[in-house]
Amino acid sequence: MGRPRNPYLTPLQLASRGYFPFLVGIVLVSGGCGALVLIQWHGLFARALGGLLVLTSVHIVVGLFPLFQRGEETDELEIELPDEWQPALAKLVRQVASDRGLDPPDVIRLHAQSPAHVYIDHNGRSILVVGGTLIAVLPQRALAGIVAHELSHFTAGDAKRLRMASHWHRVMANLEARALIHNWALWNPFVWLIRLYHQVYFLLFFASQRREEFLADSYYVDQVGEEHAATTLVLIHVLEHMPYANLANMAQNLVMFNQRVDDFFAEQARRLRAASKSEWEDALRKAMREQTQFDSTHPCLKERLKPLGVKSRDVLPLAMNLTGEPATALFANWPVVENYLSKKLLAIAQIHYGQRRQACEDIAAVMKT
Ligand SMILES: [Zn+2]
Repeated sequence: MGRPRNPYLTPLQLASRGYFPFLVGIVLVSGGCGALVLIQWHGLFARALGGLLVLTSVHIVVGLFPLFQRGEETDELEIELPDEWQPALAKLVRQVASDRGLDPPDVIRLHAQSPAHVYIDHNGRSILVVGGTLIAVLPQRALAGIVAHELSHFTAGDAKRLRMASHWHRVMANLEARALIHNWALWNPFVWLIRLYHQVYFLLFFASQRREEFLADSYYVDQVGEEHAATTLVLIHVLEHMPYANLANMAQNLVMFNQRVDDFFAEQARRLRAASKSEWEDALRKAMREQTQFDSTHPCLKERLKPLGVKSRDVLPLAMNLTGEPATALFANWPVVENYLSKKLLAIAQIHYGQRRQACEDIAAVMKT
């Protein structure tokens, strides 16, 4: 069976390449029409219309400025360890890359929150990021499947395209914000055209992202087989729906009750394993009820399982009893790394909790007055 194709890629590339010529066209036409109206007519309405058209052009030109700014790139929840700290992880990643004919990353980083992702940084280095949760919960074999999925995003060019797209996205977000802030801009039909372009672009962008996931999953299956790929997918989605083993909930509760844990991910794994069969089934039911939205970057669990030909209920017992060499053994001293990641996670949760509490106090103060 061949690899899944991405029918949205070519239309998306056309929409990306056409975006700046389209904007230049709008600037010239809107500005030109505005100037013409101002020169030809002198009434109040003509001045308002001409001014609106010219101002729109100016706004679009100013809206392009984010292209020349370097966006904030540091992820507070990410850490980069020397390879001596994770010798076996580096070896496993190299092995998966060589077995699957995929591009190895330039750098492997760890993350306190994200399960796993890849990106190209501003120096053009390919970065593979693996989350603490997956390391604590998965055996090495299952983690290798995730790594195959992620590395394929480099080889297929997805990561590079996403880096390029982030430039367009900054401009689009800026123009959208301008159109919303300056309500007068919405009177200009050229602004409607720009917003329509953005809508079509993002429909294509998200649809294309979801197709990329199916292609990446095909490498996942090559690495571990359909049943194991489905098991890990079920496990990751079930975790999202187990309130007391869910990462964000756990962090928030620990902060709320001013508790600290040094082994956050081990605690998460303990809670997951301690959950009853009915709790697993309940979480799986919720995960299977999720639907893909138009702005979802990943297909929902039900759709991802479909090409694997595996029923979620059949792999649930496997997910509940995943065994094998633990991925924590890929590190020279996992407890020290886990302690560091736990501190990061709790520190960020503390900031968010503080901000939310401040917002509640502010609202309460306003209500009292
Ligand atoms: Zn992916």
